[in-house]
Amino acid sequence: MVTEVTNETSATPSDEEPPGKAAATDQTDTEPPGSAVSAGRRFFAHIPQADWDNWKWHFRNRITTVDELAKYIPLSSREKASIKLVTRKYPLSITPYYLSLISPHDPGDPIRKQAVPSILEITMGSVGSEDPLEEKRDSVVPGLVHRYQDRVLMVLTDICPMLCRHCTRKREWCKGGWVRSPAQIETMLDYIRRHENVRDVIISGGDPLALSTHYLEEIVSRLRKIRHVEIIRIGTRFPVVLPQRIDDELCGMLSEYGPVWLNTHFNHQHEITPEAAQACDRLLRSGVPVNNQSVLLKGVNDTVEAQKKLCHELLRIKVRPYYLFQCDEVQGTEHLRTPVEVGIKIMEGLRGHTSGLAVPTFVVDLPEGGGKVPLQKNYILSQTDGELIVSNYKGNVFRYRNPEASATQEFTRVTVVRPTESIAVMNTDNQALSQREGGHDEDRTSV
Ligand code: SF4
Repeated sequence: MVTEVTNETSATPSDEEPPGKAAATDQTDTEPPGSAVSAGRRFFAHIPQADWDNWKWHFRNRITTVDELAKYIPLSSREKASIKLVTRKYPLSITPYYLSLISPHDPGDPIRKQAVPSILEITMGSVGSEDPLEEKRDSVVPGLVHRYQDRVLMVLTDICPMLCRHCTRKREWCKGGWVRSPAQIETMLDYIRRHENVRDVIISGGDPLALSTHYLEEIVSRLRKIRHVEIIRIGTRFPVVLPQRIDDELCGMLSEYGPVWLNTHFNHQHEITPEAAQACDRLLRSGVPVNNQSVLLKGVNDTVEAQKKLCHELLRIKVRPYYLFQCDEVQGTEHLRTPVEVGIKIMEGLRGHTSGLAVPTFVVDLPEGGGKVPLQKNYILSQTDGELIVSNYKGNVFRYRNPEASATQEFTRVTVVRPTESIAVMNTDNQALSQREGGHDEDRTSV
């Protein structure tokens, strides 16, 4: 059983300060359509700086209705009706901060696509499944997922400041805001205490930073007392959608219980604002490494250029591009999904064309709990025991002498299906050394 937010007194800021209405706004937008560069406090210039810097103000003033949204973004009556229809199934929630990143006159704005409901969430809503990763199946106690031997996932709440239209856990939105009760947390901790193979605990949600710092500390401090828990990871989108949350109180608390790692979720370079940069810098200075897990989204970041800019900007703010996820086949997200080939092509366009530090791993999270699998172009064209034929990032082909495996090393022989066109073996000056016919060759192996 979960605890309704309204019954908790210390878990979330919404308990202390119930959501209110956004203040009246100046809707004059001086930027030309299509200019989607971060506009700082667009729409909210009249808000006192102290409020703008206060994450609880943003949390309280989330935009949750079509009528509120229409104060900032021009919407036709047809669009309003569509959004109203969608929000009956999949609610709307945008922080004032994140809203201010949207270019209001550009329907293709990459921030808008992530935040504003689309009628396609409903019209294509039968495609996919509610819980493709089958997280429920691997729940060992309510809120605790134990799929991989050495790590567990603690789902503490379903509350997020922003409801991302591509969310994998969209199925939870209709349940209203809940937070795991202290008794439920204790059951989870008890499971972790009894399983000494668990060395890595991932705290997730919803967004766990929607909890008050005090409640979060209660959990993190007790986890830290479990000797076999080596690292604690927090999955949060706050640095992207409400970076003011990363304040001194939170960073001071996290610095007490390291090693704590934080995974966040930037999807587009327009999300990397001075506020976001400051949030990540605060975390790093508190000893919390920050990695990024982006999701490949149609019309948002599905080009080599968009990904390259994102990854370069991430490195500039000292955040490591870690994963690029194929968007999960979740109901209500099909309109944002891309063919897997798009991700593989993007990886090909990054690898070798920019520094390796700027290249995330493209992964697909397999349905039915199959786990994450990295995907990329196959650079090994063929392989024998003594030699590999390898293509580089330019498409040039090289021989590579392969040292023999020692008697103690084991490897699996699998069949490589090589391209049907002939393979030219080149030297480093790009001169052909030999010409081979390609095709299916069962004598060649790939490790
Ligand atoms: S922050 Fe994460 S969990 Fe929350 S709505 Fe966005 S994608 Fe879903």
